Amino acid sequence: MKILSVNAGSSSLKFQMYEMPEEKVLISGVFERIGIKGSCYTIKLNGEKTTKEANLSDHKDAVKILVDELIANKIIYDLNEIKGIGHRIVQGADKFDRSVIIDDVVLKTISDLSSLAPLHNPAAVIGIEAFKEMIPNAVAVAVFDTSFHQTMEEETYLYALPYEWYTDYQVRKYGAHGTSHKYVANRLSELLNKKDGKFIVCHLGNGGSITAVKDGKCVDTSMGFTPNAGLVMGTRCGDIDASIIPYMMEKANMTPKDIDNAINKQSGLLGISGVSSDSRDIDEGISEGNERCILAKKMFVRRVVDYIAKYYVLLNGADAIAFTAGIGENSITMRKQIIEKLAILGVELDEERNNVRGKEQLITSNNSKIPCYIIPTDEEGMIAMDTYNLIEG
Ligand code: AMP
Repeated sequence: MKILSVNAGSSSLKFQMYEMPEEKVLISGVFERIGIKGSCYTIKLNGEKTTKEANLSDHKDAVKILVDELIANKIIYDLNEIKGIGHRIVQGADKFDRSVIIDDVVLKTISDLSSLAPLHNPAAVIGIEAFKEMIPNAVAVAVFDTSFHQTMEEETYLYALPYEWYTDYQVRKYGAHGTSHKYVANRLSELLNKKDGKFIVCHLGNGGSITAVKDGKCVDTSMGFTPNAGLVMGTRCGDIDASIIPYMMEKANMTPKDIDNAINKQSGLLGISGVSSDSRDIDEGISEGNERCILAKKMFVRRVVDYIAKYYVLLNGADAIAFTAGIGENSITMRKQIIEKLAILGVELDEERNNVRGKEQLITSNNSKIPCYIIPTDEEGMIAMDTYNLIEG
């Protein structure tokens, strides 16, 4: 069965087509600069990438070209071969605790949640509508970044703010990266042959979050009302004292929009280093002796360790810790610095095992009290699997 996994942004559309249930990737790609001058798309087929210019005035143009490419490359002969389309949705709030088939009510709910994810949910709605128009017979499925975190208890997801902020304005912790955390936690269960394990999953990419998972369920996660909370990220600040915001608004005459931009786009590794949001550039700065790059990496490591320690206590121990996403999978030095700070928990790095990128692997010694693994994440595969499972009933 052919299933498309789709991630629509406001000016981009990523896709991956699978043969299911084998989870074989047939073709993948990304459409960029949709509705902006200089639009183009890249297709990856049989390990080869091709980029082409194209006039993409809206998402429908992108879907039309996608369909043409699928036929031209003989991935499909007929549109009806595409049985399902799984859409990544950033914010499902407390309305969705699992993936669902999209009908008019679901679509309206996703749209109504736009105020909680103003950059993402409207783009997803546009993507869903474009695919519905071009490929009407495929079952559309919504897979939410937030649904895995819906098992958190009230005492965990509430902020100690006026209760009416929650009841009247939906202010609470929702988390994000749920599809990735769920995939990695499931993979740890398989690797350890332990269905009822206590796992700490570290998704460290440009955005980063850590989740405490018990018996396959999320107990707590570091992202909050928005993805801004928790870790030091590429350009997001993570946890700060909330009073800094009104202070800076007054002192520097900043508007809510200025503040939003500062805490989401100008902070984190970029804000501290003044060099870049990319951990590879930070490492380069460190090798040149750049003090602020050294400080940025120290702060990143420190916050990750803080959360691991907090979740270790919350879970009353841990059966395994996993590292995933761009930094978690690829940064040998970041993993080393994090794991070395966990010595008090009896965690012991194996430098040779850790000397790898992007590969599923145990990276701690055989004596380590808690095994740590690299588990490359597969959000697209999870979206395809949820879509397949809902179609199969
Ligand atoms: P993601 O958001 O998951 O794509 O992750 C992006 C982050 O992963 C960036 O900070 C990259 O610098 C980092 N990253 C990707 N590849 C490597 C690598 N080979 N070594 C170190 N960091 C990497």
